[in-house]
Parts: sequence; structure tokens; C-alpha cells
Amino acid sequence: MNRELYKTEKSSIIILASQERRSRPGRMAGIADRRARVVVFPLPFQGHISPMLQLAGALHARGLDVTVLHTAFNAPDPARHPAFSFVAVPDVIPANVPSNGIAKILALNAVMEASGHVRDALASLLEEDEERPRLACLFIDSTLTAAQKAAAGLGLPTLVLHTGSAACFRLFRSYDMLQDKGYLPATESNLHLPIKELPPLQVRDLFDPSKLPNKEIGQKILNLATETTTNSSGAIINTFEDLESHELEMIRFELGSNGIPAFAVGPLHKLSSTYSGETSLLNEDRTCIEWLNTQAPYSVLYVSFGSVVHVTQEEFMEIAWGLANCGKPFLWVLRLGLIAGVEKTELPEGFESAVQGRGMVIEWAPQQEVLAHSAVGGFWTHSGWNSTLESVHEGVPMLSRPLFGDQLPNGRYVQDTWKIGFLLEGVLERGMIGRAITRLTEESEGAMVRERAKDLKEKAQLCLKSNGSSQMAVDKLVDHILSL
Ligand code: UDP
Repeated sequence: MNRELYKTEKSSIIILASQERRSRPGRMAGIADRRARVVVFPLPFQGHISPMLQLAGALHARGLDVTVLHTAFNAPDPARHPAFSFVAVPDVIPANVPSNGIAKILALNAVMEASGHVRDALASLLEEDEERPRLACLFIDSTLTAAQKAAAGLGLPTLVLHTGSAACFRLFRSYDMLQDKGYLPATESNLHLPIKELPPLQVRDLFDPSKLPNKEIGQKILNLATETTTNSSGAIINTFEDLESHELEMIRFELGSNGIPAFAVGPLHKLSSTYSGETSLLNEDRTCIEWLNTQAPYSVLYVSFGSVVHVTQEEFMEIAWGLANCGKPFLWVLRLGLIAGVEKTELPEGFESAVQGRGMVIEWAPQQEVLAHSAVGGFWTHSGWNSTLESVHEGVPMLSRPLFGDQLPNGRYVQDTWKIGFLLEGVLERGMIGRAITRLTEESEGAMVRERAKDLKEKAQLCLKSNGSSQMAVDKLVDHILSL
């Protein structure tokens, strides 16, 4: 029997059982009572939209109706998700907000709170409609405090999706401790100090709000996830038990005293085998797959720094010549806007002839398919959490070049805890890039890393089987939703 079908049937049984248990006084009995509807509201950035829609896909596969609430900014395309309903909120991020993600998130919350549009949208979704199942809860991105406040005002429970790792979840909740114990603000002399309360992290792996031009903004962003989680009916984390068992145990211990359950349901991009919604906001250049088909197994280094980070013009030149000089085949995603302050990227003179037949440069890749391709033997990444999990799932070893926020702890875990990659630290320089690529893909040290990446791939695949930890966590999550 098809697994998702089995899951759906099994969930239906759970649904009936929990509905019988719950049976709110005054609610009308009928077909609508046997099912439930959820609303999901992702933060409108690529690394947050994808996991939220993937979670929604898994819930839909278990029989729940899904409505996606979204902003006009980076709106998902409803035609790509025919199973979901879509409701747009007209709020926009003001044009004068600095283009960094932190300022945009805070501005979006402020605008949504002031306009009341989210509240109005939720109120109309909550109106009883006998044809539709009852609305059980709102899933929000962990940063969307305004949406949570709107839901709370209407008596609608929220569940919070954490699109980062469990380690990062714990880290962001530990900033008072980090400041009290003097780890932060970071100084030149304590950068290599291990944080004994949060191994394997060191001070240099911390996002330090005091280093931002506006410290308060940095501090505020850290508090958002703690605030939404504390006020929620549950935390959903895009990770899996075998990857972060200790971190998950600590989170459950910390949240348990407040009666908040935590569900580890990752890797979300592989959770539902029936949901095939296309979540990419940019057009994927699929010619790279044809090119990969012509390359030898494990020979290609895939290079991508995600959807938001920037590099300087100098770093760009070193990356280009590092790749050109390393002698290995590579596929490089040179996203529009990757170089800070440069609209139209020009490859350096002589680069194309130097890499002819060996290198391919594209603007946006079908990344999950690339990482799953047999020709790919390594991933030079900025260590965004989605990229990291996608690489873990395919057993691809990583060269980690984290730039800010949660990328820093992710890179540290890749190197020191899971030992499935190496950190690329210090000022980028072409010679050092070449040596790091050789170390990862050829040397004996790299062979151990490649072996461990394969072992972890097996664990990632096991947690997704029908009796695997992540599938069982979604079963429990559905049961929990229906009990709300
Ligand atoms: N991605 C993609 N094509 C690319 C580069 C990235 O589809 O060429 C996707 C990638 O698969 C991942 C997301 O963009 O799901 C990036 O998320 P991540 O958390 O790694 O980084 P962020 O963009 O949030 O910094």
C-alpha cells in the first residue's frame, strides 16, 4: 500500500478518535467535524517559505485542509500548489526599510500589527462554514509575532515552525545566559572560547547583536522566536532525532514545564512523498542537470550561497579564481544580487576560457536535484539550514562558509559534531580555496568526512520511513492539532 495513503487512513482514524474526545460544547456535529483545517503563514523569504509549504504538504497528505496566508512580497504562486487555498494579506514592507532581512522582519511585524489585515483575514477564515472543516490552528514562522497576536485575539491557537536547527533554537533562547556569563559581547581575546553550556559552539560562532550598527534590532530579532514559542501550543522543528537528539532532549525539557510539545519533523523537503509543490521563488536553470549527466560520479563541486547573503567584489574574485585554479569540475550558482552593491555580475576576464568544459555558472539551480545527482561529490555552502539539511539527506560532504546568524552554528556542527565537512575560515583567498577543495574531495581526511556523510544520509532516510521518527512525529502533530 502507498505509504501516504496508509498515513492518511491512519490519520483519519486518529482524527475520528480525537474528535470524539474533544467534542466542544455547542459545535454542530456533521461531516465538517471529522476533519480539520489549518492556516499556515510563512515568513516571505525563500528559506522560510519552502519548509512551511513542505510541512503544509505533509499535513495535507494526512487529510487536513490547508490555507496559505501570505504577503504580497515574495508571494507563492497558487498555480503551483493546487491542493491549497491562498489568502493574500495586502501589507507591504515600507520602501525605506534597509534591505537586510532583520530590518524587514521587524518592519513587517509592525505593519501587520498596525493594519489589522491579518486579524481580519483570520476572522473571516474562522467564520463557521458548514461545507468546510473547522479551523484548528495557525502555523506561523517563528518570527511572525504580529500574526500570533492577531490569532490570540481571536482565540485561535498557534503552532510555531522553526526553520533552523534544534541547536540554533536552543542558542537563540540562551542569549541572557551568554551575556550573564560574559561570553557576549564577543572580544578579540575570547573568540575561540568554547561555550561549555552549548558544545561544540565557540564564541566566534555566535551572532553578536552588539556588533550590528543598531544593537537593539539585533536583540529584538533574537527574542522573536522565544516570544512566539512561549505563547504557542507547540514547536515544530525542521530536524530529525538522530541528527540532534541531545538538543531535542534539552528543548523538550525546557518547553515541557510550560506544557509546550516539540515535534522534530525534518527534513521537511522529503517528508511527504505525495506533495510535489514547487516552492522555488526564482526560475531554476535545469540545463545544469544535463551538464551533470555528462560528469563522472562524485567529481563535481556544487557551489551556492543561498538566497540572501552577499559577498564583496573582492571575495567574488577570489571565489572565481579559486574555482578556476582548483582544476576540479564545479557548478556555481551566481545569484543575481550575490555581490553587494552590484546589479549585473561580470565574470572576470579569462575566467570562461580557464574553466571551459569543466565549470558551469548559473543564476539559480534546482538545488535538491543537484545535490541528489550522482556526479556531485561536494557542496561549498553558506550553511543555511535548508541547504545543510538537503546536503545531509543526500550524503554530500560540505565546505562551510557561514556568514551570519544561524549559519555560524550550523557550520560548527557540520565540522565538529557531525564531522561531515570542513569550515572555510578567514579572509577568502584563491590559494586557500583550492587547498580546501582538495582537502574535502581528495585527501584522506576528506575520505573520512565523505564516509560519515554517507552514514548520516542513511539515518536521514530512515527517519522518513513510515515508522521513522519524523513520520511518527507528524502523526503525533496531527493528533495534537485535532486536540486543540
Ligand atoms: N536554493 C535553490 N537553488 C539555488 C540556491 C538555493 O533552490 O540555486 C534553495 C535551497 O535548496 C534551499 C534554499 O534555497 O532550500 C536556501 O535556503 P537556506 O536555508 O539554505 O539559505 P537562505 O537562502 O535562507 O540563506
